[in-house]
Amino acid sequence: MTDPLPLKDRVALVTGASRGIGAALAVELATRGAHCVLIARTQGGLEETDDAIRAATGRGATLLPLDLQKAEKELDLIGPSIVERFGRLDILVHNAGVLNKLTPVAHIEPRDWAETVAVNLSAAWRLIRTCDPPLRASDAGRAVFVTTGRVLRPKAYWGMYGATKAGMEHLAMTWAQEVAATKLRVNLADPGVVATKMRALAMPGEDQATLRRPEDIAPHLAALCAPAEQRHGARVEIEAAMRGA
Ligand code: NAP
Repeated sequence: MTDPLPLKDRVALVTGASRGIGAALAVELATRGAHCVLIARTQGGLEETDDAIRAATGRGATLLPLDLQKAEKELDLIGPSIVERFGRLDILVHNAGVLNKLTPVAHIEPRDWAETVAVNLSAAWRLIRTCDPPLRASDAGRAVFVTTGRVLRPKAYWGMYGATKAGMEHLAMTWAQEVAATKLRVNLADPGVVATKMRALAMPGEDQATLRRPEDIAPHLAALCAPAEQRHGARVEIEAAMRGA
């Protein structure tokens, strides 16, 4: 019989949990037994995720309304703060991301560049820095970085998004090599096309009813957070996995 609560007593930190993929993943992790610490800017969105977690599990999450671009000091303290409060950190998912404007590389504005680099790339570095010690200390530390197929398939006007995600991938895979001898498993996850606000921004005319929903892919992301997961340094394409490819 499979364990219905494989993440019981584990503590998970999920960024970008106020809506979309991060919110669905947080509910999935909580349903599997984890206590979730949720980051995003929008308090109301975090509360909605918390409500969904309470409805599914009867337990609440811990909400950390933070702007990953601006809250550098708070971000640097997150690893030790979670350990102080909960005694452990087992799972990190850096899912928060910004698409920003789709524009020719030659027209990228410094302000947009700074935001996209901060959220997609620098936050990944800061999270690794602060979460590395407790994740290594866990008996089954797991880290997942949510990426995009755009990294492998550059396309006109998507350069700012693709370049920052490529940087995040490189950083995470370097970290994976550095911790290969530990119990920590580090992977990338490309969700494929999913009906979210970000997707609607990129493809305004698209009928989102025809797309996969965040709830459809959340179990595949959650599997990468399980103690039983042994993949390491992998780039997991969720869409392909769902097709059985
Ligand atoms: P989404 O609905 O726009 O959600 C993005 C999340 O990131 C929100 O919770 C947002 O929360 C958070 N976020 C953005 N800027 C932030 C900041 N400065 N500080 C803190 N949190 C911030 O998009 P999504 O589609 O679910 O995206 C999730 C991940 O999947 C992203 O990394 C994206 O690149 C990746 N992805 C998505 C698709 C797709 O088709 N949807 C495809 C490939 C990859 P607040 O606005 O409340 O801060």
